[in-house]
Amino acid sequence: MTRIPGWKGRAFFFSCLVVAPFLKFLARNQTGVLHPEIAAAILWLVLVCVVLSALARKGWVFYGLTGLCIVFVASYPLASLAQPVVPLSLWLSAVLVALGTGMAMWGMRERFFPVMAVFALSGVVIEAAAHLPKNAAAESVTAGSGGHVLWLVLDEQIGLAGFPDYPECSSARAALQAVLDRYNFTSFPYAFSNYSDTIDSVPSVINSRLLRYPQELIVKAGTGNLRHYRVPANRLFSEFASRGYHVVGYQHGSLRECDAAFASADCRQYEDHLGWLYRAPGGWTERFRWLVGTYQAGDPLLGRIKGFFPFRFGLKITGPLALSGLWPNQLASDILAEPRRSLVFAHLLTPHSPYLFRRDGSIRPLEEWSGDRADERVDPQRYEARYRRYCEQSEYTASQLGSLLEKLDRRGMLQGMTVVVHGDHGSRIRRSLGLPGDSQVMPDVFDYAGPPTLRDLEDRFSTLLAVKQPGAQAPACNLEKHGLLTFLSRAVFGREPADGVDAADRVYLVNHSAQLQPIDILKYWR
Ligand SMILES: [Zn+2]
Repeated sequence: MTRIPGWKGRAFFFSCLVVAPFLKFLARNQTGVLHPEIAAAILWLVLVCVVLSALARKGWVFYGLTGLCIVFVASYPLASLAQPVVPLSLWLSAVLVALGTGMAMWGMRERFFPVMAVFALSGVVIEAAAHLPKNAAAESVTAGSGGHVLWLVLDEQIGLAGFPDYPECSSARAALQAVLDRYNFTSFPYAFSNYSDTIDSVPSVINSRLLRYPQELIVKAGTGNLRHYRVPANRLFSEFASRGYHVVGYQHGSLRECDAAFASADCRQYEDHLGWLYRAPGGWTERFRWLVGTYQAGDPLLGRIKGFFPFRFGLKITGPLALSGLWPNQLASDILAEPRRSLVFAHLLTPHSPYLFRRDGSIRPLEEWSGDRADERVDPQRYEARYRRYCEQSEYTASQLGSLLEKLDRRGMLQGMTVVVHGDHGSRIRRSLGLPGDSQVMPDVFDYAGPPTLRDLEDRFSTLLAVKQPGAQAPACNLEKHGLLTFLSRAVFGREPADGVDAADRVYLVNHSAQLQPIDILKYWR
């Protein structure tokens, strides 16, 4: 194993391992390549290849470094590929890749490198071809059977009575109320979620019961640090399936409440495409951090060596941008075309952070919203600024909801439908409590030294709820104060909440012993 190529040849082979995976990532995300931040990222990686080639002048170093790069690049993709058939741990997958690479190098000697190059580069071509932008599907003209149940979860949508008193928020509240009233919904302004994070609240709602401990009804599905979750049990789906409904579930790739275990459901995923970032004006450096951070977070093993970059950026989520291909037009077309009587469940990451949409649907410059996150408390100025942007986004979401309902109504389908719209927790924009270290506290953590303020409880738990019954002739407003489980049990299923009204009308935060600590929110919310 001594005959090795010159430095240009070595740099080329390294680039097949270091640059090609990044090109595949760009193709998957439909970013295009003619942007300064992408050129900068590729240049960095090419520089790394040149450095590696300079280090690998000796045969055994070249073979060794190549093998190491292959282990970092190929282990996670192998584990993901094998997942449906044989669940492999990341480390077992790395051992298999190392063994396979060693054997191939031994058997093929210097022929190994051209074969590897062809393999890596054809992967880029295949990825690019698979993710060419497609034209949006034309709106269907086949009217379905009607009588559907449409169940929309608007992630992070605060309740009508929970909006704070900033002008943008009063405007959002009025817009949301107007849409609900126009289509004869009963609204529940004082509804609140039982939990302040998605991974507890949504599984609890779809299983119609409270949790005994945090994350009881959810399973972490991704390898490493990726936040991928699935919800194995889904009472909502089984109840409707048992009544003869076809079940369709729309979800973000990171949280699967429509699970493969639920065999009769038609699960449809929407994913983030970073290409949508280019709809936001803004400087290239911010976009560079976003691209590289997302790339580094996408592969737990490659992430350990920062994806071959010399710096690390955190993962950011694009929130409502991920919905661009689905909400609201595609969803409306799908419902109109649905031939069977269906429960259509959609968990929508809007008005979820980041707060990037203005009320007219235009996108703010990236710099304004790229720092938005839920795991912190902020000072009063930032609290107000975030709420003003959040409320504009919420108003835009209301107009999208209006547009969906209008499409269904125009085809005469809405009248016979049941429509449930709810949030999964509050806005989670939280003001600093003035306690040491409170800037970095997750929204589900019990961090009160004394009695909580009502405003803080509203920020965490006040959440949207509105229900339109089939044939409803007039809007209504229910001014009672209850948890989501109480209201949904009564308004949709005609029963009392499984855990009793007292327990279902409390809110829960995780205390220092990792247990759910109840708070009697009604004591504060009078
Ligand atoms: Zn949520």
